[in-house]
Amino acid sequence: MAINTENVSVEISKTSKIDSVDFSNLNFGREFTDHMFVCDFVDGEWQTPKVMPYQAMSYEPSARVFHYGQAVFEGMKAYKDDNGKVFLFRPKQNFDRINKSAQRLAMPAFPENYFFEGLETLLKLDNEWIKPGMGNSLYLRPFIIATEPAISASPANTYRFMIICSPAKAYYNAPVRVLVAEEYSRSADGGVGFAKAAGNYAAQFYPTSLAQEKGFQQVIWTDASTHTYLEEAGTMNVFFRINDTLITAPTSDRILDGVTRKSIVQLAEDLGIKCEVRKIKVDEIKTAAKDGSLKEIFGAGTAAVISPISAFEHKNELFDIPVSEDSYAKLFKQTLLNIQHNVSEDKHGWRYEV
Ligand code: PMP
Repeated sequence: MAINTENVSVEISKTSKIDSVDFSNLNFGREFTDHMFVCDFVDGEWQTPKVMPYQAMSYEPSARVFHYGQAVFEGMKAYKDDNGKVFLFRPKQNFDRINKSAQRLAMPAFPENYFFEGLETLLKLDNEWIKPGMGNSLYLRPFIIATEPAISASPANTYRFMIICSPAKAYYNAPVRVLVAEEYSRSADGGVGFAKAAGNYAAQFYPTSLAQEKGFQQVIWTDASTHTYLEEAGTMNVFFRINDTLITAPTSDRILDGVTRKSIVQLAEDLGIKCEVRKIKVDEIKTAAKDGSLKEIFGAGTAAVISPISAFEHKNELFDIPVSEDSYAKLFKQTLLNIQHNVSEDKHGWRYEV
């Protein structure tokens, strides 16, 4: 295999695990491809990046990431069309976002040429792991951790940037039931909610497990100070459809600026669907649910693409959302998948051929 890279050193794995993986029965995020991308930040500089066999790593117990959570990550996907071409979807958005997240956690920005060369090299080496067919993808997980062995509470001087890859099928299939947060919060004004900081996810696990005990799969977070406005779900932005109008919360320092979300806002405009980006009160959707004008709620994110929501509970009041005949969730999911899998026209230039 010819792999030409300007900046990236390559060590090809001598063996492949691919034959041991059942691609028809994948658990999300459990299997990893044969290679990974690694780049270390030392002496104030990102060193020569490497693509190498996927393997365990060892760190001193004092590595700062273990103590102060200096860790940020991304989630993106590679898709293969029926002719074997491989595409990413708006990867520059993920590149920009990981550096925004890194800045907020006092971590160094990763260079754009390394990011794209690393991704492309990895995807060429692990090409066989990207299966064609709607809903199939290779989930890519770039992340940065503070590796310096020192436990004073200050930013590290050394970091590791990595990308690991995991084959995926559709994430959530069944519609989910959600609990609207009344007590716990995911993020606060001036905080790190807009960043993909590892700790944001850890902080959600406990309140989400309480919701799960009550029979809900996810929490829809509300604003931390008043719990009045609907914000986003754990790994998805959220859209509400009242009559034929879509509504989603504006991004802020509390809400992640999702790539799927902004793509849907654009697609709505393309399709002539009215979409309002504005603050939305919990009371507004409760009233709409009561008078029948609430037609749909769905989550939007890279992993799940679109995840329909079948019911929500707030202050012990449960609202079932009837199945919509002309579902926007379905329409947007198909429209997005068609663009991602090179089936339909890409008028905004969102596909990035690898
Ligand atoms: N909100 C949060 C908190 C997330 O973790 C994600 C997943 N990245 C999203 C929204 C959706 O973002 P995207 O569409 O870029 O995957």
